[in-house]
Amino acid sequence: MFLEEVINKLGDKKIDIYLDMDGTIAHYDVGVADNYDLKRPLFGRIDKIKYIINNYPNVTFKILSIGNLDIHKEQKNKWLDEYLPEIKSEDRNILIRHKDSQITSALVKKNFLNNLKTNNTIMLIDDDPRVLGAIKKDNKNNILLYKDSILSD
Ligand SMILES: [Mg+2]
Repeated sequence: MFLEEVINKLGDKKIDIYLDMDGTIAHYDVGVADNYDLKRPLFGRIDKIKYIINNYPNVTFKILSIGNLDIHKEQKNKWLDEYLPEIKSEDRNILIRHKDSQITSALVKKNFLNNLKTNNTIMLIDDDPRVLGAIKKDNKNNILLYKDSILSD
């Protein structure tokens, strides 16, 4: 598994891996933001994440996801309770960006990650190249950026 190789190369360092949800650990339905709790889980990827959680105590998985409405936070938490309950509620960062907001999701995520104060190695796994690109341009915490395909093999 490529993700495991990357983690092994970092040795005993504490690693925080921020996971996007839509398109990364759940099937992305174009234009469908509602009923998140009913979204199809990507089990192959979820199993890899559980394997890392069980075998690498130096790694903490966290969620970094965005919804348009407050109810999306509730729906995403319900989904996580069902499919990835190993990720604790304090590690679930489900941010609300209202649909008509001027700030893009990429900037919301970039600002969140740039404001983290930690000595841990930070990794982000996201399917959206706009998010990865925005952080790459302004990467204050030297975050290791990976496309969702790192979870595929
Ligand atoms: Mg996504």
